[in-house]
Amino acid sequence: MFNMSRRGVLVSAAAAAFGLEKPLALIPSARAAPAVEPEVGFYRYKVGSVEVTAVYDGIWRKPHDPTFIEGVTVDETKAALASAGLTTAFMPIPLTVLVLKIGDKHLMIDSGSGVGQWQVNATHLPANMKAAGIDRGQISTILISHFHPDHVWGLMEKGTNAAVFPEAELVVNSVEYRFWTEPGRVETLPEGRRQAGRRIAEVFPTWKNWRLVESGTEVAPGIRILEAFGHTPGHSVFLVTSGRDQLLVSNDTMYVPALLAPHPEWQGSYDQDGPMAATTRRNIIDRVIADKMMICGAHFPFPGLGTFATDGNAYAFTPVEI
Ligand SMILES: [Zn+2]
Repeated sequence: MFNMSRRGVLVSAAAAAFGLEKPLALIPSARAAPAVEPEVGFYRYKVGSVEVTAVYDGIWRKPHDPTFIEGVTVDETKAALASAGLTTAFMPIPLTVLVLKIGDKHLMIDSGSGVGQWQVNATHLPANMKAAGIDRGQISTILISHFHPDHVWGLMEKGTNAAVFPEAELVVNSVEYRFWTEPGRVETLPEGRRQAGRRIAEVFPTWKNWRLVESGTEVAPGIRILEAFGHTPGHSVFLVTSGRDQLLVSNDTMYVPALLAPHPEWQGSYDQDGPMAATTRRNIIDRVIADKMMICGAHFPFPGLGTFATDGNAYAFTPVEI
């Protein structure tokens, strides 16, 4: 018997299509995968009195690549995706941006990837912001987790590099800002990061609306920036507290949870310091579990929100149901 969950219904339909009354066993890839992209591109929820809108930017349909996770084969990454009920046709790396309404102020967390500046399927942020009733001009503050392109290219116009948010305050950990803008830094970066590093070093220091902060600072009412170094030298997370509710905005700490929840020790090519990123990951997720917090992540399946539990020496991720 199948229960009436979405997956159950689809599995049942697939079994009927193959003339089976009921399948005796399902190989992981035969499971019904959820839709790769959401039908509605924004999702709104409350953390105490803070209104959070998760806005879908798009997805990187990354071709499988044996160098993606150090020492892990493509078959192993595919198995992890299948276990989470995701497609194995490619590595799905969706991107969601948050807009927080606190009182009458609108804050954004990261800027999105900039239409046509990161991946061909990441073009939806402007339309989804509009659908959510958010005007770009309302954003007074942008809290930035780190300077990777998918998180900051939305700050710049394509081609001209003109500031998209010249009036907004741009808040970032001083460690992150200094790393990327230090004279001579570009030449020390791995080849694959130099072009992005050069763009950051040339453009960001010309803007006057930066506010560099230290870890632990309350960067907005009820929002504290916490260090989560490793993914980048100054990668940070944001703890949102309102009344009894807490939300940990984890950005890229847990990257794609289908991979890293069951394998928190995996180190990806996206982590600039793999061992440090793995240690940070455990520290952050252990705290989220101990304090029974909701957590969101930039590359979690849309709307990027869920909870973690311990599972042996690893973790299990439960996405919020929408
Ligand atoms: Zn990212």
